[in-house]
Amino acid sequence: MEEPPHRRRAHAGSRDLQRYAGLFAERTGVMRSSAMRDLMAITARPEVISLAGGLPDTSTFPAATFAAQMTRIAQESAAEALQYGPTEGFAATVDCIVEVMGAEGMLPDHDDVIVTTGGQQAIDLICKTLIDPGDVVVCEAPTYPGAVPVFCSYQAETIQVDCDEDGMRIDELDAVLERLDREGRRPKLVYSVPSFQNPAGVTLSLERRRRLVELARSRELLVVEDNPYGLLRFGGEPLPPLYQLDGGDFVIYVGTFSKILSPGIRLGWAVAPPPVMEKIVLGKQASDLCTSTLTQHFVREYFAEGRWQAYVDSLAELYRGRRDTMVEALRRHFPPQATWTEPEGGMFIWATLPEFIDTGDLLAKALREDVAFVPGQSAYVEDGRGRNSMRLNFSGSGEEEIREGIRRIGNVVAEQVELYHALTAGKGAEGSPGTPGREAEDVPVDVKAKPSSGPGHDLTPPGPDEGAVLPFRKKENTG
Ligand code: PMP
Repeated sequence: MEEPPHRRRAHAGSRDLQRYAGLFAERTGVMRSSAMRDLMAITARPEVISLAGGLPDTSTFPAATFAAQMTRIAQESAAEALQYGPTEGFAATVDCIVEVMGAEGMLPDHDDVIVTTGGQQAIDLICKTLIDPGDVVVCEAPTYPGAVPVFCSYQAETIQVDCDEDGMRIDELDAVLERLDREGRRPKLVYSVPSFQNPAGVTLSLERRRRLVELARSRELLVVEDNPYGLLRFGGEPLPPLYQLDGGDFVIYVGTFSKILSPGIRLGWAVAPPPVMEKIVLGKQASDLCTSTLTQHFVREYFAEGRWQAYVDSLAELYRGRRDTMVEALRRHFPPQATWTEPEGGMFIWATLPEFIDTGDLLAKALREDVAFVPGQSAYVEDGRGRNSMRLNFSGSGEEEIREGIRRIGNVVAEQVELYHALTAGKGAEGSPGTPGREAEDVPVDVKAKPSSGPGHDLTPPGPDEGAVLPFRKKENTG
């Protein structure tokens, strides 16, 4: 068969790059790829156990329900479901959103809601509305890896505030705001994922929630609360969202159907005060005119059945078992210097390894063993931070896969530990990171986690002067 005359070249050559480089907008120079998106391409191979994606388990959604609802849409509302819709979204979709938010004690005004193409677009539109190049955005350290490319593409100056097991350290946030104040600067927004954070799995305590809302009100500061996981709680007591505590004056809310129903339908939302919403709507018009009308119909049909909450509860139950399995496997297969969080909900565990391990390098080795995770660096804007941490997803794989995946990662970690000790043996390793005074064989592949593993420590990687064995900073009275 003859080749088509104008085949696109698979790779741009250096001549091509030169030709286009002069045309690129300045912002493309600071644009970053989302680590997860890159990884999704690699981990699409069926033999790879991916603990990298942020995938909910959609296999549990009843196929018969899906088929029945799509059939009803085809029979009863095909014309509307195949047509453009209002930029703000259908009123019926907003009713469903208000119901979801009501389940966490929030009562938004219908007019303050816009239906977006996933929560991701909501974050993008909020930044498009508020951020000029050089503006300051404050977020958690680590932060949602998918938010980093958004902040970068709007050329924000991003300041990250450390998290511990109670979420963002509000005392540190306060100090950052004070410093900025002295410099005559004011952040445009504070971005937070307060419940079962992606990537760290930690949850902002009630006291800190109150303090954050107080700070927002007293400083007239906008807080963006991104809450995809709040309803996926499988332990502990529910906490009020920031939006509920604030009443919607200074908290802009971002929600999504991705984790409680399906990410494939690409439906999320933002809730914002009217003047901000007006601009967000304009931004969305320019971006994609409207959110998929077909999937908005699907959500309406699905919610009309009245079983959405039971389905969310079943997901939480499933994820609880998978979290337990992952924690048990970490205890068994990770070295004693490793620490990790033990979330009471959501989909992620954040594990931190000895400082001499670079999880970016480790990933290349892990992929050779057909297992993947997200390297910690993707949760930081500043280069070098999070180098020895990783995000592990427990919602998207079955328990057997989780066990095997963690075993494989544990093996590559053990190899790195051995290599490190072999290289530093006899070189006076004191003062260097790792485990001086311990021989490689002291770090078995199968180890029980020591009591200090798990929650109860700062998530910030230790500095080089902080001793040899990965230390756990004591929790201070941080409020
Ligand atoms: N925010 C957070 C914290 C997330 O974890 C995700 C998805 N992983 C999103 C936003 C975006 O999700 P979606 O666009 O599918 O709603």
